[in-house]
Amino acid sequence: MSAIDTLPSLSQVIKTHGLDARKSLGQNFLLDLNLTSKIARLAGDLTQCDVLEIGPGPGGLTRGLLAEGARRVLAIEKDARCIPALAEVAAACDGRLTVIEGDALDIDPLAHLRAPIRIAANLPYNVGTELLVRWLTPPQWPPFWQSLTLMFQREVANRIVAAPGSKAYGRLAILAQWRTDAQIVMSLPPEAFTPPPKVHSAVVHLKALPQPRFEADAKILERIVAAGFNQRRKMLRASLKGIAPDISDRMEAAGIKPTDRAEQIDVEGWCALAREVARG
Ligand code: SAM
Repeated sequence: MSAIDTLPSLSQVIKTHGLDARKSLGQNFLLDLNLTSKIARLAGDLTQCDVLEIGPGPGGLTRGLLAEGARRVLAIEKDARCIPALAEVAAACDGRLTVIEGDALDIDPLAHLRAPIRIAANLPYNVGTELLVRWLTPPQWPPFWQSLTLMFQREVANRIVAAPGSKAYGRLAILAQWRTDAQIVMSLPPEAFTPPPKVHSAVVHLKALPQPRFEADAKILERIVAAGFNQRRKMLRASLKGIAPDISDRMEAAGIKPTDRAEQIDVEGWCALAREVARG
């Protein structure tokens, strides 16, 4: 038995450290260690990896990641009340856990991590999408991480893996599917959390591809996709008219009908259009 297994139960940790859940911090805790171990296993082989965890809270997923043999875990937590609870986990794992108190949106974790790096988190819902978009739009590809294993509201998870033509298909699907393999790997009902949220949740695993699926300039692709889905009910020739005066010609050159709507264009089509726009 490892020292991690001798730690008190998570409900005991919450009681001892007074961690009553705060809505403003998106706190819906996972207290079932079987569940957190399962999520940690979905992150892949961690034994040679540093793992970045955002929002460890009382440390359930953190324990799972350490028990799965993560070389190191760097955990960033905004709630100061959780830090003493996490120090108990750190003391039980031979220095493999480092905790930084602060806002994950403001902290650059790279100075504290060594490649290969994986990211795993039961994300606070209020910052989850913003963090995902940042991880999907780094200055260079391949990114600093090999994979992301992330819990989201089911609706957000559906948007990440959505296919063209569906309601959920949009910017998130294109950003994710252009340069990663993205899959929903687990679904969780509200009762899995304490307190239970109003919505269902799902874990998405995104594996970074060595290079993008189709050639395109990332900035141009992001710009046209944002403009196209900003007015998703309009025909693309209207929503993209600010991108180039001859946008209809460029769409036709990319094999897209100017009367198509954003949600009808697959990732390959968007990339073809980005290349046409890049011609200047
Ligand atoms: N990982 C824990 C679990 O699975 O039980 C807690 C997950 S809870 C959904 C989200 C956690 O993120 C909370 O501990 C919350 O305090 C923390 N958090 C919220 N906003 C944050 C931010 N901007 N930066 C870092 N942590 C944040």
